[in-house]
Amino acid sequence: MTGTFRAIRVSKGEKAPQVEFVNLTEADLMEGDVTVAVEYSTVNYKDGLALTGAAPIIRHWPLIPGIDFSGKVETSDHPDFKPGDRVVLNGWGVGEGHHGGYAQKARVKGDWLVKLPDAISNEQAMAIGTAGYTSMLCVLALEKNDVKPGSDVLVTGAAGGVGSVAIVLLAKLGYRVIASTGRLSEADYLKTLGADEVIDRNELSNPAKPLGKERWAGAVDAVGSHTLANVLSMTKYGGTVAACGLAQGLDLPASVAPFILRGITLAGTDSVMAPKEKREEAWKRLATDLDMKKLEALSFRAKLDDVPKFATEILAGNVRGRAIVDVNA
Ligand code: NDP
Repeated sequence: MTGTFRAIRVSKGEKAPQVEFVNLTEADLMEGDVTVAVEYSTVNYKDGLALTGAAPIIRHWPLIPGIDFSGKVETSDHPDFKPGDRVVLNGWGVGEGHHGGYAQKARVKGDWLVKLPDAISNEQAMAIGTAGYTSMLCVLALEKNDVKPGSDVLVTGAAGGVGSVAIVLLAKLGYRVIASTGRLSEADYLKTLGADEVIDRNELSNPAKPLGKERWAGAVDAVGSHTLANVLSMTKYGGTVAACGLAQGLDLPASVAPFILRGITLAGTDSVMAPKEKREEAWKRLATDLDMKKLEALSFRAKLDDVPKFATEILAGNVRGRAIVDVNA
């Protein structure tokens, strides 16, 4: 790709950020040792916050947003990458302080990139997106802490991006999946993904007792707050809860009882600054353990022009599945 390329650029506005579609040149990109011809990006909740200004995500103005992308290496001064390599990027402050994925071209540090396994196409990589990669990190945390296939695992925020991929992964790995959702109308959909049981999230959303009835050996929690406190209090002796999200809130109104009386492990899960080896492991495992047919049911195609609309809709909770943004469409 030479000459100009298309991008979304966000500038600091009086009240809300100004979003515009622009044609840029390579001189507009930031420093980095690898230039990537971006093919796909997606719209995450964090992207919604960045584009609308609902939270101070953007730390450099003006900025090309987009916290993740997949594409092909165009030029590289990094020893691990050569032109033509298929790569994925999740986080590292891209789309926050460094130009991101809503453009046909990106220049980033090679250390931030992961080579995609052959079994995952560039398009599938963004159907998985940061949410799916985070789900895999959570599953790896459960495995590391010896939560065995066959046991009950709870997934909260089940119909969301992290939750839905977590269900697909856990079901394929042989866990008995309990999905907690506020959208009981989606129960059949969640069962198609692999949930064995669907519960109403209201069961978990009120203040928790220090200890409750032991119900699951592990959990993937995308919700935080009272929900996470309840999840911990109902985890079986010696179990593990992988916590990655804050859909209900950033607080954790819990007691130490599950830790000191049941030996529960709370495994914090971060995707943004996760070390490279962990990312490579997660993407490798996604290639073998994610049912790509089911992934299709979780995603739909979109264009760069659609991003501002989805940014607003994702904050309103109106997006079902992941938008795979084809930046060249
Ligand atoms: P989504 O918006 O797709 O899904 C969140 C889900 O949480 C919703 O679908 C809903 O599920 C549930 N939910 C929403 N509001 C509430 C509420 N008030 N009480 C209880 N449940 C609620 O987001 P993602 O799945 O992409 O992300 C989930 C969380 O994980 C977010 O907080 C996000 O910021 C965080 N995250 C963290 C990462 C990390 O690196 N740690 C990486 C990626 C995401 P349902 O309709 O089924 O009830």
